[in-house]
Amino acid sequence: MNAEQAVFAAKVAHLKDFNEALELVKSAVFQKFRMHRAGLSLVLQVMPTNLGAYHILGSNIIAMNSYVLAAIKNLSGSDTEYNSYLFMVLAHEYLHSLGLVDENTVRQMTYDLCKAMLGDDHGSTKMAKEDPSSLFPQLRNMVQTQFGRDFQLVKNFDTASQGYIQ
Ligand SMILES: [Zn+2]
Repeated sequence: MNAEQAVFAAKVAHLKDFNEALELVKSAVFQKFRMHRAGLSLVLQVMPTNLGAYHILGSNIIAMNSYVLAAIKNLSGSDTEYNSYLFMVLAHEYLHSLGLVDENTVRQMTYDLCKAMLGDDHGSTKMAKEDPSSLFPQLRNMVQTQFGRDFQLVKNFDTASQGYIQ
């Protein structure tokens, strides 16, 4: 990890909420790929454990798996690990929301982004390369298999970008 990556890793470690995580994802994606969009909404929903999140194509909605978020919050020894997961998952879905449909392309770009910003050994990079269960093997033993019917809208998400020219 070089000095610039260390500064970025500290920002990931100190993320306080979903909106801060998105702002950091957006700045990283703009720095690396020169791509930007605004006006996203985030909803939390219980989903099967093999799914971290999804983006409804053509919509402005990112849905994150609240079950996995809670599980990782419990399993991780620190905010750093939880935030590493949050950053990686949001980066993946944000790239989809830019119109990138192909799953392999998005997986590769998420990995390239994490590697460039955080280096090979960072948790985000490792989870982007494989999947979250590489850091949290306990996820493989969890038996949540259903989608919940309740959606929780995250307030004040993607608000910093209001006023940007889109
Ligand atoms: Zn995807």
